[in-house]
Amino acid sequence: MSDRPHILIVEDEPDLADVIRDYLTQANMDADILSDGTSAVETILRTRPDLVVLDVMLPGKDGLTICREVRAQSDVPIIMETARVEEIDRLLGLELGADDYLCKPFSPRELVARIKAILRRAAPSAAPTKGLVLDSEKWRATLNATSLDLTRREFQLLEALHNRPGRVFSRGQLLDLVFPDDSDVFDRTIDSHIKNIRTKVKAVAPEANLIRSVYGVGYAFGD
Ligand code: CA
Repeated sequence: MSDRPHILIVEDEPDLADVIRDYLTQANMDADILSDGTSAVETILRTRPDLVVLDVMLPGKDGLTICREVRAQSDVPIIMETARVEEIDRLLGLELGADDYLCKPFSPRELVARIKAILRRAAPSAAPTKGLVLDSEKWRATLNATSLDLTRREFQLLEALHNRPGRVFSRGQLLDLVFPDDSDVFDRTIDSHIKNIRTKVKAVAPEANLIRSVYGVGYAFGD
């Protein structure tokens, strides 16, 4: 058995799938290609890849259905490929639960970078979590044994992101997670809470960056 990360590419365009596989091989990963959606769920659950690159438009079964069905049984990281920007919020939504997405056409280099970032964060010793301890009962977060003095909302936001390292959450999803009963809060509320968390983190560890901004979408845990 190799300890190289095993990536499953579910993509029906043979040229694109080959290019992705070549890039992953060069990046020291093992990659398999599946060009039809019909058996994708079964293959993913059986072969347990470290990460799945999943196209939305596939013959047999579409990527959205595959993602939903896999998510019901597995936390395997999933990066979706989509040609439609309108789909992004749904892809990352709680119902589907993809970890990240790329809009077609994308650069294979960018895909490799995203894959590496997710695998790094999924690893137990992921650098950004080092020294971070979350106590959900007391809504208390400490970094390097120093309290971050987060408010309850700030704590809940950080916890939601931290529970799924590397996964991109839209502002709308974070609102649903942290303010489920409050219809008077807006996307900007999330931004200001994130800003406060970052300020408090920087005060304790100036070089730490626990939360990554994802342009046009939202936030993810990790640098
Ligand atoms: Ca396709």
